[in-house]
Amino acid sequence: MEQTLIVLKPDAVLRGLTGELLGRFERAGLKLVAAKMIQVDQELAKKHYPADREEWIKLLGHKTLDNYKELKKDAKKEMGTDDPMKLGQMVRGWLLDYISSGPVFAAVLEGPHAVELVRKITGHTLPFKAEPGTIRGDFSFDSSHLANTAKRAIKNLIHASGNIEEAQYEIPLWFSEEEICKYERANEKAMK
Ligand code: ADP
Ligand code: MG
Repeated sequence: MEQTLIVLKPDAVLRGLTGELLGRFERAGLKLVAAKMIQVDQELAKKHYPADREEWIKLLGHKTLDNYKELKKDAKKEMGTDDPMKLGQMVRGWLLDYISSGPVFAAVLEGPHAVELVRKITGHTLPFKAEPGTIRGDFSFDSSHLANTAKRAIKNLIHASGNIEEAQYEIPLWFSEEEICKYERANEKAMK
């Protein structure tokens, strides 16, 4: 049994997609054990996307470079650098602005293989690469190049913990222990 964090980002809330997106997880059998709507401040944003997660920041930079290459665009010319660390830090700055730009809906989902299952339903980070049937594939079309030309983060509707360690770090940032409910869902009996 695992728990994982999802955050429906400001574009999802502003587009009125909260119920539709949450419903996709519920219908897959994932149990909603905590939920709230909040306006994220810089403090929470910085903890959620920590400056000292160097590997992740570098990976953000590499993803950006790969995407530029694929679209035959010159990252150095357009972004001023092709250093993955510098690019990653730039993207992190935009991410802090994005996640705090309006209300978000945060929730904890529980179930067997919850982390991987939620990532699968969420889809690829880059919306134009996300498969139809996934949240990002069905509702968004952004790319690094589109986003970075406008000096903003990729609008891909949802954050979902990337792995078990990330989930264990993120859940307590957003929810206290008392806010996480324990109960049995009716369908659990049918799965026994
Ligand atoms: P995921 O959300 O799929 O786990 P990451 O953890 O790599 O992806 O990135 C966090 C978020 O940063 C993404 O969801 C997206 O909103 C944004 N992002 C990722 N890469 C870029 C990029 N090259 N340019 C702008 N924003 C990006
Ligand atoms: Mg991630």
